[in-house]
Parts: sequence; C-alpha cells; structure tokens
Amino acid sequence: MSALNAESTAFRSALEAVRAVEPRIADAIAQELTDQRESLKLIASENYASPAVLLAMGNWLSDKYAEGTIGRRFYAGCQNVDTVEAIAVEHGKALFNAPYAYVQPHSGIDANLVAYWAILADRVEAPALAKVQKRNVNDMTDAEWAELRAAFGNQRMLGMSLDAGGHLTHGFRPNISGKMFDQRSYGVDAATGQIDYAALRESAKEFRPLVIVGGYSAYPRKVNFRIMREIADEVGATFMVDMAHFAGLVAGKVFTGDFDPIANAHIVTTTTHKSLRGPRGGAVFCQPELADQVDRGCPMVLGGPLAHVMAAKAVAFAEARRPEFADYAQRIVDNSQALAAGLTSRGATVVSGGTDNHLVLIDVDKYGLTGRQAEQALLDSGIVTNRNAIPQDPNGAWYTSGIRIGTPALTTRGLGTGEMDQIAELMHTVLTSTRAGASKAKFDLDAAVSERVAKQATELLADFPLYPTVDIS
Ligand code: PLP
Repeated sequence: MSALNAESTAFRSALEAVRAVEPRIADAIAQELTDQRESLKLIASENYASPAVLLAMGNWLSDKYAEGTIGRRFYAGCQNVDTVEAIAVEHGKALFNAPYAYVQPHSGIDANLVAYWAILADRVEAPALAKVQKRNVNDMTDAEWAELRAAFGNQRMLGMSLDAGGHLTHGFRPNISGKMFDQRSYGVDAATGQIDYAALRESAKEFRPLVIVGGYSAYPRKVNFRIMREIADEVGATFMVDMAHFAGLVAGKVFTGDFDPIANAHIVTTTTHKSLRGPRGGAVFCQPELADQVDRGCPMVLGGPLAHVMAAKAVAFAEARRPEFADYAQRIVDNSQALAAGLTSRGATVVSGGTDNHLVLIDVDKYGLTGRQAEQALLDSGIVTNRNAIPQDPNGAWYTSGIRIGTPALTTRGLGTGEMDQIAELMHTVLTSTRAGASKAKFDLDAAVSERVAKQATELLADFPLYPTVDIS
C-alpha cells in the first residue's frame, strides 16, 4: 500500500467512526481540512503537523492515567506510557542538545508554570527547607510554613514588555505569572526597534530580579542569549528562555552560539506546535540541577500527562532531527526576510526594519488603519494574519497598530521567496485599498478588490497542496 493510500485510509476510517456517533463533528473536522487548504495562513504561531504526528495522537494512549515520572508513577500499568515518554525525552534531548527534558506540559503556558515553580522551589523553597533542616514542606511546623509562604511573596521577574513582543505569561496581570511575581519589563530601543541590552543590564542591576525571562511572541529579531545570561549572572538571577515561537529555528540550527537558548539559559520552555511543527503541547529543557524541581511539574502544576500527545511529540522531535528539517528552518527565515523586503519595497513600515526569524511585524498606521481594521480587511481577502501591538502602540493591545505575519505554515506547504513577493503584493493591494471607518474596528474595502485578491491567493496556493497524501473525499 502506498503512503498516500495508508494516510488517506487512516483519516477516512477515523472520520467514518466519528460520523457513526456524531456526524456534525466529522463534518467539522473535514471542513477544517478544506478551510486550511484554501487559506493563505500567515499566523506566526501556527503550522501544519505531519500526518504521522496527527495520527500518533488519535488512539488509546489517551485512555491511560500516568501521574508521576518515568518509572515512578502513581498508577499501575504504565509501562507503555513509560516507553513513549522516554522516547520523547530521548529525541527532545538529542534535538536540542539539552541535558534534561520534561515533555509532560500540556501547553506552552503549562510549561512556563512548571518552570516558574521549579525556579521558586530551587531558589526559595529549597533554601528555606535547608534552613529548618526539613526534607519537605509537610514536615514543617505552622510557624515555619508561614515563614516559607512569606518568602515566596514579592519575588521579582524581569520580562519583555507586551508591546515589544513579550508574552502574557512573562509576568503580566491577566496571567497568574503576574500574580506570582512582581514584574518589571524590558523593551526595545525606540530608534532601532531592537532589544537595548545596556538598558536591560541597568534595569536588572536596579531591580535585582529572581528570574529574567527571554523569549517572545512578536519580536522579529534574534536575541543574544549569551549577553542575557551574563546579565543574569551579574545580578544572581535565574535565566529562563521561552522559545515557544522559535523552537523550530533552534531545532533547525538557524539559531546557534550566542543565539541558542539551550546553551545559554538555566531553563528553557517551549510549545511544540508552532515553528517546531509538532502536536499542540509544551516541554521544558533544563540544566541538571533544576531537573528534580522540573519533575515536580506533576502534581505541582499539571495533572496526568497526555500520553497520546507525548507520542506525537516523540514523532515530531524525530522528524525535526532529520537533515531536511534544518533546510525547512532556514527556508522559514528566507521566506520571512523575502516577505519583509517585498513589503518594505512597496512602502510598508516594517518594525525594526526587517526580520531575523519567522515573523514580520508591520505598522499599519502608515495606511491610516488600526491593526483590527487591517486584520479584518486582509481576512476578507483570503489572507489570514493577526493584529498585534507594536512598540509604544498608541492603540493598545485590543485594536493595536500592527499586523504580525509568520512564515512557518506556508513554508511547510512549500511556498518560497518568489511566492512571498507575490503575497507582499496582495497585502499591499488590500492595505492601500482599505479606508478607516467610523470606529477603530470599521473600515471600507471595495468588494471587487477583496474578491480579486482572494482569488489570486487561492490560485497561488493551488500549486502547493496541503497534506498532498491525504484524500478524504
Ligand atoms: N509562550 C509564548 C512565547 C507564546 O507565544 C505562547 C502562545 O502563543 C505561549 C507561551 C502559550 O502557549 P499555549 O497556547 O500552548 O499555552
């Protein structure tokens, strides 16, 4: 049986089984494939996982409870989950050249919570236990416990500001990290749009954080993690990097040396579904001295691990260890740079003047639009992006003045730099044809323009079929 037949048969059979119970769900799953095939997906945090990754998730591993760690579970009969988790760890460590890997986090937010708790346990709880010579918190008297709880309060975190591209989990109020830590932000230089490491150093010296967080959701440049580690060492902070967005570029060896988070940080978190092209999930990589604390992720922060998703992580890590993944990672950056160049040459303002990674941020104020208006106008024209704040954004985080564009998904489909220039032209047509309306959300765009662009976008995609080996019709 050819690969095409095997994958098509697998997905067809799965849909048939679902349809027999709830046809509307089968229809929605099938429709999602059609929609994804037809849309020009430029969402920087999304990708298309391989059929092998998708199929590794749809099975009875999902039925098993396996709280605990490999070989030390709170449930009986976990031998196959042990096997799956150990293989995911083996591939994860080899892929990132990491001393320790923990693959249980269900998502990026969970991975960050595991890491924050590990840092607090290492820096606050362990010294407190040593002071009172107790092995764990359950052995402490009420007075000692009260002292420990007080020590946890007002711990400080230095993370990237939201408008410079940081993530909510880097100490911001709508997220629990902003309640666990007193947060101070570092931003970007107003003139270059790039991280100002001198200002970061000054801020760290003054603020004396327990933890410095590197990494971002919407910063288009490389980050020098070696300098950040030096700063952390100077002020006695633990240095954590959240590589959720750019893990694929680390795996594909586009970010090496000073730019490799694993080589420079004490602890690194990630999602597995963005540029890394795996299943939705998270992981933590750390230096050996933090491993015991990271292993407390379950039950401290997580419940039972999702064994079926760990299986898919193992498959995705194995795929990313193949030489062609390095080629893929480099093409992501080539495409993003081609897109930035195509937009700039047509008059767009690209934040920071370009990109070193998988994403481009454009300032749509140039077109007299908010991010909200631009996002919808592009969507109406078949181009899927998302609005995003830009540094010192006058329109705030809801309406924004920026559009974030990412290339991992279209690169998976096989589009290259020539197509990126065509996409820049399509975006330029939409943005220059859209007029701001009566509110920050309303706008006018001639239907003939959006229909023409949507048709051109569909034509562009026709040569790059998504999931070419999968036929569920
Ligand atoms: N960290 C960063 C930098 C992110 O950009 C995101 C998601 O966008 C997350 C963490 C959270 O990931 P998840 O949605 O898997 O919880």
